[in-house]
Amino acid sequence: MEEPIALIERLKSVHRKIAHAAMRSGREPSDVALIAVTKTVPLEVVMRAVEAGVRDFGENRVQEASAKIPACSGRFPGSRIVWHLIGHLQRNKARAAVKLFDLIQTVDSAALAADLDRHALSEGKVQRVLIQVKLGGEDTKHGIEESLLLPLLRELRCFGSLSVEGLMTIPPFSEDPEKTRQWFRRLRELRDEAAAEGFRLPQLSMGMSHDFEAAIEEGATMVRVGTAIFGERG
Ligand SMILES: *Cc1c(COP(=O)(O)O)cnc(C)c1O
Repeated sequence: MEEPIALIERLKSVHRKIAHAAMRSGREPSDVALIAVTKTVPLEVVMRAVEAGVRDFGENRVQEASAKIPACSGRFPGSRIVWHLIGHLQRNKARAAVKLFDLIQTVDSAALAADLDRHALSEGKVQRVLIQVKLGGEDTKHGIEESLLLPLLRELRCFGSLSVEGLMTIPPFSEDPEKTRQWFRRLRELRDEAAAEGFRLPQLSMGMSHDFEAAIEEGATMVRVGTAIFGERG
């Protein structure tokens, strides 16, 4: 795991690349949120990242997050840390996820959305969510098929305690970001198709350590970066 100095240098480098990619796509650096992905990263390193100014964090398991999130809130009260759930969510963990996470990025069925809506209502909160879309036809991945996106969005309209703010994808892996670019572009097109039906979905969560610059050039508003900030996971 990285030394404090290395962490700060890596963060600076990622921010610099985000800024350049945003400018290449005619946007402001502040239009792209950096979500630091802290799965498997020890709590003390997460805390160093908070001290270095990171405010958006992504975790992919409810269990791991249920230890980290309260510990961070206790250590940095009032610091407005935003926690993103970026891993698949099982329906039996929906209540815990609503309690823990500010933004759940992995909604991929009406049944899960209904559970989240119900738990959010009983928690007295409006749960912010993204819809995870499966692109590239990989059977092993979670997310809804693109042809089911509009029907799902229509169903979600009646859920009063959910705020559907955008789309998320984990495209088929390729070493070469230029090969992944087509999927980033496709997510943006899907967003625009939904907009034509009146759905406002400003957030596009796409791009990881090795391809976030291409994702930003294609319109990402959130990039989920782990390895480039914290080093290889053990
Ligand atoms: C782990 C993970 C990331 C970050 O991956 P890196 O390659 O380490 O940047 C992004 N998104 C999701 C959904 C992940 O599970």
